[in-house]
Amino acid sequence: MLGVRSCATMAEAAGILSGDRHAVLIGGGTLVMRDVNEGRLTEGTLVRITDPAFQQVNAGGSRIELGAGVTMAQLLASRELAFLHGPARAIGGPAIRNMATVGGNLFAACPYGDFTVALLALDAQVVLQAGYGTGRGVPLDEFLAGRDRGTTSGLVTGVQFARPANPGEFHFRKISRVKPKGISVLSIAAYLPSQAGRVTQARVAYGAMAPTPIRARGVERVLEGKALNGMALDAAAIQAAKQAALEGCQPATDAIASEWYRREVLPIHLGRLLAGEPR
Ligand SMILES: Cc1cc2nc3c(=O)[nH]c(=O)nc-3n(C[C@H](O)[C@H](O)[C@H](O)COP(=O)(O)OP(=O)(O)OC[C@H]3O[C@@H](n4cnc5c(N)ncnc54)[C@H](O)[C@@H]3O)c2cc1C
Repeated sequence: MLGVRSCATMAEAAGILSGDRHAVLIGGGTLVMRDVNEGRLTEGTLVRITDPAFQQVNAGGSRIELGAGVTMAQLLASRELAFLHGPARAIGGPAIRNMATVGGNLFAACPYGDFTVALLALDAQVVLQAGYGTGRGVPLDEFLAGRDRGTTSGLVTGVQFARPANPGEFHFRKISRVKPKGISVLSIAAYLPSQAGRVTQARVAYGAMAPTPIRARGVERVLEGKALNGMALDAAAIQAAKQAALEGCQPATDAIASEWYRREVLPIHLGRLLAGEPR
């Protein structure tokens, strides 16, 4: 039988999740309720959180903090987070965006997880709380590796990352066959900060090119130090990035696209993103 526990604090929810292996956190429920409705989840406790801090957005300063229960619709309503509207709008249709949370997206299996791809390019930290202790910050790539191995447990209370000094240096695109709300063939996020006209500490991430969102380390290496003319990279830099695009990729074949197709189209879309071409 399935029960529901409502928790007034995140600590209470974290305690239940740590102490009961049949307890499942329900964020927006877009995936959890599908499992319930389709009979895959029939036993245990659904844990919901009413703590307002779970849905809090702190976006006024240089460090952005999003509660794990913040929805895509909430992000889209925030002018301070306009640079994240692309990835937030990429999640399903309006009804899904009203429920889908930032925290839930971190757990969504490939090819879902489009918002997480953006967070990976922004070098986000995930705040994890196990038991009644205080939360600890974990780099998102470490969190995703743990998720992949099945060793990530506890409650995600939120995510944190530095606001891009220049939001125009953050880029995102999702490639899907059905517009505007199809599932990803793949997604790409790139944060290309510059100093003295050169790219410095580029971070590029992909979705649906491996079992979890991954960093495109080959592309990051190639782009380091490349000259920028205004916001634009030159053709040689883009070509070099395209050649390094597939390093570390292990895309799957699924109902949306074959592994072959994903490998074929990724360099093309990466090149378009880096050239600033419209979608
Ligand atoms: C029709 C449809 C279209 C969709 N389209 C997209 C899309 O385009 N792109 C995309 O990326 N996703 C898509 N999704 C998947 C999903 O809606 C999103 O990934 C969403 O962000 C998941 O968040 P949620 O709050 O609804 O997760 P939930 O369903 O509440 O939870 C999902 C999983 O994460 C765990 N979890 C959730 N929050 C926490 C937390 N704070 N701490 C610990 N564990 C937690 C839950 O226990 C559960 O295992 C779609 C889903 C549907 C049904």
